[in-house]
Amino acid sequence: MTNTDILSYLKNYNGPDVRLMEICGSHTAAIVRSGIRTVLSDKIKMISGPGCPVCVTVTSYIDRLIELSENPENVICSFGDLLRVPGSRGCLEEAKAGGGDIRMLYSPIEMLKLAKDDGLHNYIFAAVGFETTAPVYASLMESAIENGVNNIRLLTSLKTMPEVVKRIGGKMDGYLLPGHVCTVTGYALYEPIAAKAGVPMVAAGFEDRNILQAVFALVKLKGRGVVRNFYPSVVTRDGNTKALESLDRFFEAGSAAWRGLGSMEDSGLYLRNEYERFDAGSRDLTEDRENSGCHCSKVITGEERSTDCPLFGKACTPSDPKGACMVSREGACFNEFINR
Ligand code: SF4
Repeated sequence: MTNTDILSYLKNYNGPDVRLMEICGSHTAAIVRSGIRTVLSDKIKMISGPGCPVCVTVTSYIDRLIELSENPENVICSFGDLLRVPGSRGCLEEAKAGGGDIRMLYSPIEMLKLAKDDGLHNYIFAAVGFETTAPVYASLMESAIENGVNNIRLLTSLKTMPEVVKRIGGKMDGYLLPGHVCTVTGYALYEPIAAKAGVPMVAAGFEDRNILQAVFALVKLKGRGVVRNFYPSVVTRDGNTKALESLDRFFEAGSAAWRGLGSMEDSGLYLRNEYERFDAGSRDLTEDRENSGCHCSKVITGEERSTDCPLFGKACTPSDPKGACMVSREGACFNEFINR
């Protein structure tokens, strides 16, 4: 089938309603930016899922970073997106304005040199992400140990996809699996989840063409608990063995709290006991207090669209966000706002 045929099929589809979820925030950004939703038949709904790491990070994690920044012995390092995410006592940007040493970095590896050159402070990275980003933190650990740099720490809020897919699997008619996560993990681990939920799951890339082909496949496979790989240039059945081994060396699975979904066993990654000295207190950060009126937890779980939130585009905008979904570039609210 040509791309034109696929587009025509999806546009003119007149079968039973199909609700599909793109689990990953990068897919949400690509789908909203490309206008794919607008070319689909009204009977095919694309719904954003919980795959934006910043959006699912609970407020107690931000609170803990702020608390750490209040100690003059600590330097907090983070990707830019996290700096404006509201905790229950404000955000990291405000803590920085209040005197905390908080730095935006483009890569955790940058922190290594900073820490090596400064023996007086502890450098703590806000390690947020999924399996795609987690290997970078494993590399950081490996380099730190090799180079004898002992003043680095990680405050981890690392999440893994399979447990959350297991939790939400079956609520929709099909799921778009994140191609970059599957590059690391492979897609085989989703096969029992799809079979149990009785819904199709398709690993897809991020170009418009990849997404449309995957959506077409999901519509066609409706009702079948199977997994298909539509990103074979980088995704294999068993994933990237080297990255998985590196992750396994430093991290172990544990219970993690997700905004809107609560705590899920084995859905987080934590430094193993032998590397505990590098941990900044990551476990047991479960409390989550959303801003009053913010519907992020419903947006993340697909119960509502961003535009259903009464604050959307009024009290909550990218320049004055009230929730993480409006801060993150992968957030459903941010993408809905900038592409409206
Ligand atoms: Fe939260 Fe703002 Fe999204 Fe509403 S529009 S759900 S307040 S982030």
